[in-house]
Amino acid sequence: MSQNFLKKPISELINISKPHAFALDRLRIKTVFDLLYHFPVRYGDAFKAIYIRDVEADLPVVLYGEIQEIKVEQSFKTKMMIVETVLRDDTGSIKLSWYNQIYISKMFKEGDIVKISGITKENKGRFSIVNPIIEKTKADPLNQGINLFGQKEEVLFQPIYRESKNISSKYIHTLIEKIFLNPEFKNINDNIPKDVLKKYSLPSLHDAMIYIHSPKKEQHVEIAKKRFAFEEIFYIQLKNAFRKKEASQSLSYSFVGLEDALENFKSHLDFDLTSAQENAIHAIIGDFKKTHPMSRLLEGDVGSGKTAVAAAASYAIVSSRIKSMREMDQKNSRLQVAYMAPTEILAKQHYESFTKLFARLPINIGLLTGSGCKKFPSKSSLLTNKTGTDISKNQMLKWIASGDISIVIGTHALIQKSVVFRDLAFVIIDEQHRFGTKQRQKLANKHLVDEEMKDRLKKKDTLRVNKKSYIDNKNDYKGEKIIQTPHLLSMTATPIPRTLALTIYGDLDLSIVDQMPTGRKPIITEIISEEKRKIMYENVRKELEQGRQVYVICARIEDPDPDLMSKLNVKSVMEEAERLRKNDFKEYKIATLHSKMKTIEKDKVMKDFLDKKIDILVATSVIEVGVNVPNATNIIIEGSDRFGLSQIHQLRGRVIRSNDQAYCYLCTASMNVKTMERLKALKNAKNGFELAEIDLKMRGAGLLYGDKQWGLSDIGMEAIRNIKMVEAARTVANELVEGGLSAELQRVVEDEGDVHME
Ligand code: ADP
Ligand code: MG
Repeated sequence: MSQNFLKKPISELINISKPHAFALDRLRIKTVFDLLYHFPVRYGDAFKAIYIRDVEADLPVVLYGEIQEIKVEQSFKTKMMIVETVLRDDTGSIKLSWYNQIYISKMFKEGDIVKISGITKENKGRFSIVNPIIEKTKADPLNQGINLFGQKEEVLFQPIYRESKNISSKYIHTLIEKIFLNPEFKNINDNIPKDVLKKYSLPSLHDAMIYIHSPKKEQHVEIAKKRFAFEEIFYIQLKNAFRKKEASQSLSYSFVGLEDALENFKSHLDFDLTSAQENAIHAIIGDFKKTHPMSRLLEGDVGSGKTAVAAAASYAIVSSRIKSMREMDQKNSRLQVAYMAPTEILAKQHYESFTKLFARLPINIGLLTGSGCKKFPSKSSLLTNKTGTDISKNQMLKWIASGDISIVIGTHALIQKSVVFRDLAFVIIDEQHRFGTKQRQKLANKHLVDEEMKDRLKKKDTLRVNKKSYIDNKNDYKGEKIIQTPHLLSMTATPIPRTLALTIYGDLDLSIVDQMPTGRKPIITEIISEEKRKIMYENVRKELEQGRQVYVICARIEDPDPDLMSKLNVKSVMEEAERLRKNDFKEYKIATLHSKMKTIEKDKVMKDFLDKKIDILVATSVIEVGVNVPNATNIIIEGSDRFGLSQIHQLRGRVIRSNDQAYCYLCTASMNVKTMERLKALKNAKNGFELAEIDLKMRGAGLLYGDKQWGLSDIGMEAIRNIKMVEAARTVANELVEGGLSAELQRVVEDEGDVHME
């Protein structure tokens, strides 16, 4: 019953005019839940403590002073009782009156020091406040001087909400107070078990709602925020724990011959794996031997060689045999791997890396993107066509469905319904934070082809589906249908603080590649003030003369409007390119790259840069993700103080792709001590994870790669700063899932909410 209360449309409970309903809609407030979770953005600024001297008409104010003689009179016209007095401070006096609140004359007396809050009125040049809130105060502002009137010290806790056209903060608060008066609100259901609330001293949902919307003191807001932060993290952890349990109960492929395959792969590599890579591979192989599907996150700085780890694991899968009752059937067909990357550039690059790594191994590799498909090895000859041949999408789909292509690398195109695998055993997702949970799950669930889809495919004959393969896939075993879920490897180079990782990746096991391939020289990072710019350009010129290439990244310009922000960023890229063309690097080829360009244009620029047709690439931070141009060894980051440290770290990872000395120049016009301290961390920090922690400490959680990237609210992001809270939420969630969930909590975990969004 109380669960339903939260889901009720507000219009069912309160009379709402059309324009108001429309405006609420725009704020996405429909249900009681939406309204109650529309938290104030701040408190109190509406009522500011000032001196009486500074009073103006129609101003919400807080005043301190001594009250003078109190009089009680009856109004001539209305017969109402009126209490009147004058408030005086060092700077002046103002008339106060109360209608029908005769008790005021009994509670207060002349000489009391009080705090008054209300809205000022003016009549013929004289100010007054009608029906102000009056409180006795111990503090004597007359003796405490100006401090007490500082901005923050004394304000009323007036909640202030995000407004929209036709709808004021005050109106929203009125609606909320009406909900509070609804009898059902009293019995509002709290999904967090009582003993958990007690253990962590958190208020009930009912109390927290009152505290956050109508606080009587600052502490109320704090307590409420703590509860809502816990609640948010707790729900996420609950979903994580639930997913993890489900995974541990579902079946996967398990294999024989993994180790032999791995040794074979290694013998074909022209470098030695780092021990961090070895460790990661062994953890993965260990998971492959289990009977439930792997869910593992591979975290490692840019350039640490995650692709080779993915390739080794892929090879082990496609060349080993399944350990199952189907072993006999499987003699001639290999299991399949799907590898999804967030951009076409990246997908192509992985495909090319794979074709190199597998050049001497008999494995078919396919590339599937929106703009075309390729297959390796090509039919003609290994020698004439190193990266395979272009094939039609239809042909590609057929070969994926028949199992002829073992490793399919692609973009989002992989999750389209038309892509049907014969035997998908392993799913790899690169730069996984760029995908939503749903997209990841879609790929992971590729083995579950719905019946209707199969029928349609058969009718249209766009795909020749081998009927047996589906039956195989849902293995008929002693009359029981067995569904085998593919193993999942997610990869990310985005270093995030431990608390955030525990929250958003809580359902994954973790492997960290914290070691660079040997031979890499540490990057030289310099902070460049305006005076040093000339010297920097001279250094860069020397590198260009040696045939090296350069990235110039332009400052991120923040604007509340994302569209405008992107326009401004593009403009700064264009202007900087123009400036460099005219002044400092006249004789070099300079091109631009930014997010407003079409994919084909972007790909063309990246290809030209890779082919050395471009010397200097001026870009927004679009190049952040994974692009590999080993000859580009210099990166200039303009306005570097505007980026997060971990983002700069990502950017500078672009230039440590070879054994040549790499340089990163951090240009900044700000000589602010804090800025310098932050940027210096980039010279000293050991790895990206350390920088992420520094970012969290110095700039706050909301600034970790821009606001909404992780899909947490501001309150949730604040919780990320508190390791104890995150761990508590995790522990409780795990315990509850282990012990079996209540119907309410079951509903929470089955709710379709997506944690990651970008
Ligand atoms: P990332 O972790 O950023 O995805 P990549 O997998 O793209 O890194 O690897 C970066 C480069 O390092 C590639 O050119 C790759 O061939 C090379 N590489 C990977 N592992 C090693 C290694 N153990 N020794 C030498 N080079 C390696
Ligand atoms: Mg990579």
